Amino acid sequence: MSRFWSPIVHALTPYVPGEQPRITQLVKLNTNENPYPPSPKVQAAIAAANADSLRLYPDPESTALRASIAGYYGVQAEQVFVGNGSDEVLALVFQALLQHQAPLLFPDISYSFYPVYCKLYGIDYRTVPLDDDFAIDPATYRQPCGGIIFPNPNAPTGRLLAREAIEAMLQQHPDTVVVVDEAYVDFGGDSMIPLVNQYPNLLVVQTLSKSRSLAGLRVGLAVGNAELIDGLKRVKNSFNSYPLDRLAQAGAQAAFEDEAYFQQCREQVIASREVLVAGLHALDFAVLPSAANFVFARHPAYDAAMLAARLRERAIIVRHFRQPRIDQFLRISIGTEAECQLLLAALTDIFASGV
Ligand code: PMP
Repeated sequence: MSRFWSPIVHALTPYVPGEQPRITQLVKLNTNENPYPPSPKVQAAIAAANADSLRLYPDPESTALRASIAGYYGVQAEQVFVGNGSDEVLALVFQALLQHQAPLLFPDISYSFYPVYCKLYGIDYRTVPLDDDFAIDPATYRQPCGGIIFPNPNAPTGRLLAREAIEAMLQQHPDTVVVVDEAYVDFGGDSMIPLVNQYPNLLVVQTLSKSRSLAGLRVGLAVGNAELIDGLKRVKNSFNSYPLDRLAQAGAQAAFEDEAYFQQCREQVIASREVLVAGLHALDFAVLPSAANFVFARHPAYDAAMLAARLRERAIIVRHFRQPRIDQFLRISIGTEAECQLLLAALTDIFASGV
């Protein structure tokens, strides 16, 4: 607390990012990064941009990158927005599109940044409980609101909401923005980007941090009707006119231009997820159906916080949330198949030691 802080800062409970440990020998399964490196084409593009022109400002509009993304998804460049990670894109979405008289709706178990943005930007919100199977129940969103946002697949549950349910939501709220946060969509989800021309109230947010192995480069994007994108640009230009640096623009563009590598990498992660889920089932875990690069699992006999601590002693880190309803779950990111096997072996060892 400080007398220099504004009342909003006093009231804020800041988002706590997942741990980024200094020790590199850890098996790091706690923040849903991709276990594989980015495409070699990304590395080459970054090296070329680096050697060339860092003394110059970057393109404020990220024109070439936005054209690549637009081409990739079959939309116009005016329908694409980019920012420093989807966290920044989401911050602009909250300010530009979700600040209305009626409360914003999002699931009670969801990305924990949403309530932080609401408090920071003074946005009224109401959380909507997940159903008994930890799925989003679209019927519970049939209420007046100033906007809707949810991750699909949801985080940290990994559960997917079907396209028909999202379309019904868009139709029920034609004058309200519905934001689908598709951070994890490439691991088995169904992107809503093909629907943006049909629904002017749909905004899809994605990231290059997960399926394109670029968490360290900080690139996120939004695709929607040009009217929504214009709203984002107005806020962006009022606060940072150069959102992406030269390396990020070059690297991200190369990532969208190496489809073969992208497909291979995401298929590998999905295959490892299947192996991990089977292994967890064999150890008696209950695992929610996952369309993401993580699984959400609970053991009937062992306390989740204790398991996370025992795993850490064995140099494996997973995520545990001290939050009602989910405090007996572990969220485990999908590593390489070898890392998944190390995790399963460590759990077997913990159970055998009887703790
Ligand atoms: N949305 C969701 C649902 C996430 O889990 C994350 C990752 N923590 C993000 C957005 C932000 O990812 P990034 O800023 O790396 O693009």
